[in-house]
Amino acid sequence: MKKPKPLKTVVQAAGLLSLLLLALLGYTFLPLKLDVAANQTPTPATTRGKPDPAQLPDVSLSLLKAGKMPARQAFAYRGGNWGGAYENGMAAILVQHPQATFLIDAGFGANVAQHWQTIPWLMRQLSSYVVETPVAVQLPQHGIARDQIKFALLTHSHWDHISGLEDFPGLEVRLPTAEKAFIEAHKYPGLIDQMIGTMNVRTFDFNSGPYENFDRSFDLFGDGSVVLVPLPGHTDGSTGVFVNLRSGKRFLFTGDLTWSLEGFQLPAERPWLARKLVDVDEAEVRRSIIKVHLLLQQYPDLVVVPAHDRRVHERIASLPAVER
Ligand SMILES: [Zn+2]
Ligand SMILES: [Zn+2]
Repeated sequence: MKKPKPLKTVVQAAGLLSLLLLALLGYTFLPLKLDVAANQTPTPATTRGKPDPAQLPDVSLSLLKAGKMPARQAFAYRGGNWGGAYENGMAAILVQHPQATFLIDAGFGANVAQHWQTIPWLMRQLSSYVVETPVAVQLPQHGIARDQIKFALLTHSHWDHISGLEDFPGLEVRLPTAEKAFIEAHKYPGLIDQMIGTMNVRTFDFNSGPYENFDRSFDLFGDGSVVLVPLPGHTDGSTGVFVNLRSGKRFLFTGDLTWSLEGFQLPAERPWLARKLVDVDEAEVRRSIIKVHLLLQQYPDLVVVPAHDRRVHERIASLPAVER
């Protein structure tokens, strides 16, 4: 019997192993729905929720597009499409409340090229970005002076949500205590570490009692119009923001808990590679996704807005138009 050459055997084995690993990686992109029962957490026995619109103050909101990242839908959720264009939108939400005009997140700012360099090398190889008009430039174009913005509320502290904050020096930035602790623990170093020292941070806790299927919440103005809930997993202090309008229309801004609406509808998580790159606690992400999934079933009219789903952004009034 002829003995196989050792080198040939090694090359063949390496080839086989690579194929196996590729097949395994491919599998992690295939459709797989999250198990709702396995990831469901208890709902509070007594809770507040959908307010009487007639009791709400006159609040309006508008979306401001501020940058985008071309991507594949397959990277956004398990079962997403590999073909065709898919845009991850960067955006800020302008909320005009009788007590304060404020932003939810800030999109890409004027120095996005510099900020891009702060993200991990692998992320930069796997993605790219496109500049749009920064929020601080757009606002004055629509008659809103920068100093009319009283604070920015963050869904979380990742670079693509805070880049635009640099264009508002000294602006108060509101974060839950858990996100501040997360930043200080350096679990995801980056732009936030460079900015936190000069940021005017004001923390809050979810101490307004249960809300919908969340056991904790923070009613920002105490009038039921803007209610914050913990949506941990992507970062420790990731926050969901309900905005309840007088028309009866309700929004829930979910940050990066999912990158696409399908994540909540199916429900489905990000593929393995994306989870490893961006989430700190995958199990928490699953539990948070299921909370929003169940809310969508309860309230089909609730406008759930993943921070980067531009197809959802297109359905929200863009400044100068407003939702009211
Ligand atoms: Zn993020
Ligand atoms: Zn993001």
